[in-house]
Amino acid sequence: MSTATLTPPSKVKIGPTKLLINGEWQAAASGKTFATINPATEEVIAQVAEGDAADVELAVQAARRAFDEGPWSKMSATERGKLLFKLADLIEANRKELAELETLDNGKPLGESIKADLPLTVMCYRYFAGWADKIHGKTIPINGPYFCYTRHEPVGVAGQIIPWNFPLLMQAWKLGPALAAGCTVVLKPAEQTPLSALRVGELLMEAGFPPGVVNIVPGYGPTAGAAIARHMDVDKVAFTGSTEVGHIIMKHAAETNLKRVTLELGGKSPNVVFADTDLDAAVEGAYFGLFFNQGQCCVAGSRVFVEEKIHDQFVEKMVGKAKARKVGDPFARETMQGPQVDRDQFDKVMGYIEAGKKEGAKLLAGGGRVGQKGYFVEPTVFDDVKDEMKIAREEIFGPVMSIIRFKDLDEVVQRANRTMYGLAAAVWTKDITKAHAIANRVRAGTVWVNCYDVFDAAAPFGGFKQSGLGRELGEYGLQAYTEVKTVVVKL
Ligand code: ADP
Repeated sequence: MSTATLTPPSKVKIGPTKLLINGEWQAAASGKTFATINPATEEVIAQVAEGDAADVELAVQAARRAFDEGPWSKMSATERGKLLFKLADLIEANRKELAELETLDNGKPLGESIKADLPLTVMCYRYFAGWADKIHGKTIPINGPYFCYTRHEPVGVAGQIIPWNFPLLMQAWKLGPALAAGCTVVLKPAEQTPLSALRVGELLMEAGFPPGVVNIVPGYGPTAGAAIARHMDVDKVAFTGSTEVGHIIMKHAAETNLKRVTLELGGKSPNVVFADTDLDAAVEGAYFGLFFNQGQCCVAGSRVFVEEKIHDQFVEKMVGKAKARKVGDPFARETMQGPQVDRDQFDKVMGYIEAGKKEGAKLLAGGGRVGQKGYFVEPTVFDDVKDEMKIAREEIFGPVMSIIRFKDLDEVVQRANRTMYGLAAAVWTKDITKAHAIANRVRAGTVWVNCYDVFDAAAPFGGFKQSGLGRELGEYGLQAYTEVKTVVVKL
């Protein structure tokens, strides 16, 4: 244990561990619980109520009532906005405690929870709070003696299934627009990281959200998650997670009530570095773009295409940075990288490292486990990766970088696009023409030019191809929680 520990894990305050249904904390109908694990120590943090179909049923009924009968649907848009602002204030006031809880359950360095996750979460709620009373339709000049206008109505009960990599932030991306639009919610946090979502549940009650407006049902995907996606009274499902499960969610929606579906799925994002770039900035950006959050980002720049002319210099600098990256106790001040979230993810990442070695990629940094306890992986850099290798095709979701050489623009565009994914991309260059060529021709939902991982609640985010369906954040994200109604009045 480091001497510079910021908070001893034993001092972290654990909030609620039950289901939040209709404003009440309840045990699961089955009485079952599951353990949530500290990924840095492999020890059990707490037992959490394990929701399943019976609990989802109660949660949906509560959400339905709050939507159909009020009080939520009868509340003014201004009031809804005020409650969201209040929630943002409460999260901000409790940011230290929430950041500690996030780090304990997820393993991300505490400094990052404090500097990234918490402020982004607060900003997201504030952004959508501001929208609540600015959602409106149009008047449309149709033919004939008619007055035609549109109303943007809430879609109804929203089922929201979130992942474990940014638990608080993903909850904000989901709850913010849903509540601003006037929906009620049944939310399932990931089984690896239920604690911060439940603590926010408590803050939602404190802020004054009426019972039933937000119901939180922790549990497993194939049980609680599937029950949400299959439920006939859920009007929309918003999911963030793997592409594989995205297919399942869509199938459930298709087989039941054609609920609206938004999906934010996997990626294999190309990060293209041209020889004319500011090399140090590109190395820093590519390093951050891949290793941030233990590499557990759907947008991770995991295919780093480097122009041949600067390849050797780029690699030398990157390897130096990867080797200097401090891995360890996420509560220690100097830690830059914590553990992977759980045993499954750890095994998966180690499996990809083995595949990279076997297929002949050049391992220049890392490649092993750190320590004997906790799911720590060395920051790993493979060079001379070929497009057809498994590590260049599949999402690794860990601290494993693949450096790939390229010669010219047309070639790199074509190779960057040779993937089933299309979540994000980046380009590093001083040539505005090249920058725009990549921005226009790479098929991805977000393209960063001379930067990486720049997120803002106002900027829409989502995927092309099998990286997803629909957009989150910004005005586009809000639209996914509304139905457009056309009203025609004979004059
Ligand atoms: P990962 O593989 O990175 O853990 P998943 O896509 O499995 O990502 O998980 C993301 C979220 O989806 C979690 O909340 C998980 O419980 C949920 N989930 C997993 N499988 C299903 C399923 N079959 N139906 C609904 N939700 C699921």
